[in-house]
Amino acid sequence: MVKVRVPGKVNLALAVGPVRADGYHELGTVFQAVSLFDELTALPAARGEFHLSLQGEGADVLPADEGNLAMRAARLLAAHATEEVGVAIQVRKRIPVAGGMAGGSADAAAALVACNELWQLGLSQPQLHDLARQLGADVPFLLHGGTAIGTDRGDRIESVAARGRCHWVLALSHHGLATPAVFREFDRAASPGPAVISPELLAALETGDVARVGGLLRNDLQEPAIRLLPELGEVLDEGRDAGALGALVSGSGPTAAFLCSDADQAAALGRRLVGIAEVREVQIVHGPVPGAQIIAEEVAHG
Ligand code: ATP
Repeated sequence: MVKVRVPGKVNLALAVGPVRADGYHELGTVFQAVSLFDELTALPAARGEFHLSLQGEGADVLPADEGNLAMRAARLLAAHATEEVGVAIQVRKRIPVAGGMAGGSADAAAALVACNELWQLGLSQPQLHDLARQLGADVPFLLHGGTAIGTDRGDRIESVAARGRCHWVLALSHHGLATPAVFREFDRAASPGPAVISPELLAALETGDVARVGGLLRNDLQEPAIRLLPELGEVLDEGRDAGALGALVSGSGPTAAFLCSDADQAAALGRRLVGIAEVREVQIVHGPVPGAQIIAEEVAHG
């Protein structure tokens, strides 16, 4: 048995550039892994057997077959084993589904780490990163964790030496937003320039100036997400009025993320947002935290 814990992410910056020849947008993003975790357990199974079960967020709507990114990750890794392998995967989900926090990508990253260990394949981090990129643009970051720049499709990762701790309040929505729909809405209205990450934001992260970070948060997908789900704008205003250092939509939304000066401000803002009809649930989290990590392991003897 191998148990892996994997975080969700928020994007502190998400600059969307033009569509490339391969159909992807050029992205420049700053990711931060935050302390809202899914847990994935990989259990031994007979050779050729692949099973998956889910509990928690979205368990009733998510596919438990090849449509699940965790299963796809396990299958992709199995193709690199020298002998036939099998696995039974259990996922405990807390990261909201279709919430802009890359929960599916997180589970894929967790499955790579868990199965690499369960099957004793010994693939290196760079090898796992190569597989991660094949599974989706956000998967490499969820292996990496911390605070990092993502360029290209968002999947070329470079660490940021961020100081200090960011206190976030996450307002989860009653609705999901499909990432492709948000990009289509972006394309309808924008003629983007190059996807440039603000050097001021990186400097503020490196000096641990959280107040300044709050003023520099930026997401090019925020306006299109609000056009698709106008109530999101009201949730952001509520957090701004309450004095958050910064407020933005995470990734393609609709989770709203509020940066706070300390744990007390986060708790107070959390209490305020809980009372809003448009907010399904509030999570108080912090970042940066590590990427997909083994937290328990039992070796079967005999
Ligand atoms: P991103 O921030 O990368 O845009 P997201 O957080 O908005 O992603 P996810 O929850 O990662 O969205 O997943 C979006 C879709 O992927 C889901 O609606 C679901 O159909 C599919 N999916 C496949 N496997 C999973 C999984 N293990 N967890 C969540 N979604 C999954």
